[in-house]
Amino acid sequence: MEKNAKIYVAGHRGLVGGALLRALQQQGYTNIITRTHQELDLTRQSEVEAFFQSEKPEYVFLSAAKVGGILANATYPADFIYQNLAIAMNVIHAAYLHGVKKLLFLGSSCIYPKLCPQPIKEEYLLTSSLEPTNEAYAIAKIAGLEMARFYRKQYGVDFISAMPTNLYGPGDNFHLAHSHVIPALLRKFYEAVREQKAEVVVWGTGKPRREFLYIDDLADALIFLMNHYSDESHINVGVGEDVEIRELVEMIREISGFSGKVVYDTSKPDGTPRKLLDVSRLTSLGWKPKTSLREGLEKTYAWLVEHYDAIV
Ligand code: GDP
Repeated sequence: MEKNAKIYVAGHRGLVGGALLRALQQQGYTNIITRTHQELDLTRQSEVEAFFQSEKPEYVFLSAAKVGGILANATYPADFIYQNLAIAMNVIHAAYLHGVKKLLFLGSSCIYPKLCPQPIKEEYLLTSSLEPTNEAYAIAKIAGLEMARFYRKQYGVDFISAMPTNLYGPGDNFHLAHSHVIPALLRKFYEAVREQKAEVVVWGTGKPRREFLYIDDLADALIFLMNHYSDESHINVGVGEDVEIRELVEMIREISGFSGKVVYDTSKPDGTPRKLLDVSRLTSLGWKPKTSLREGLEKTYAWLVEHYDAIV
């Protein structure tokens, strides 16, 4: 991408899009376009096509999506499949119609089968059944990345897809019931300290393992891929290491300074037992993350403390 290329970041108010916007600006890209949800509803085909027609972006980061944690996915599967399918379909097709030079579609590691060999290689996609708790979201994301691949195949366009692992960082969704594990736990521990509670409740057994990537590292990787990756296969983006939820809980407990009891509520779902991406394809291109889990958690906790009153 030239520094003055016209770049559309779809979903710039989200965790990923927001980080992308910051990273692009920091790296000296000067011609970035965005639209709020109110200005442009990406689930409406005619609005999306009119936008591409008038703006003619050269590069598109498709980071708009309806996202949520394990409970939100289980509660609103129709919303998850409909909105994510519509966004993928409308934006990818409009990008093709209006001559976008390169498009990067963002998937998620939950697109892989529930019982995948670990670490998960790109080619394990669609080799067996999905995790039921986020199947609707996963199906929509798989359709999106397959669309990007088929458009490349039929039309020769440079559309690529990246599969990030679990993400976290400043600006995340800290809603207790509907967020992912890191923001939920940061908030629970912060509130426990603030309100001098006796215990913090963690969902599940604490046994599942997860890999977590700091959001600014993801943004850096996506810009890197836009500049250096062009292939029909999607590419995993992660750190290449995972932790047990229990270890994560202990790290967050330490950062918060909470000294009360930690209780595991095993009536809540564990989800997939393990989710670790094989990132050798990405690292072989010369990219690696800069932020350790501990450092990323500290930064995110500090952000939460500072913005707490505004987000609750
Ligand atoms: P997943 O990676 O798609 O399973 O989504 P989550 O980030 O929501 O959950 C990851 C793991 O953290 C699961 O095993 C959850 O049971 C566990 N977990 C523990 N406490 C919490 C919590 O307070 N909120 C969430 N969302 N997950 C939690």
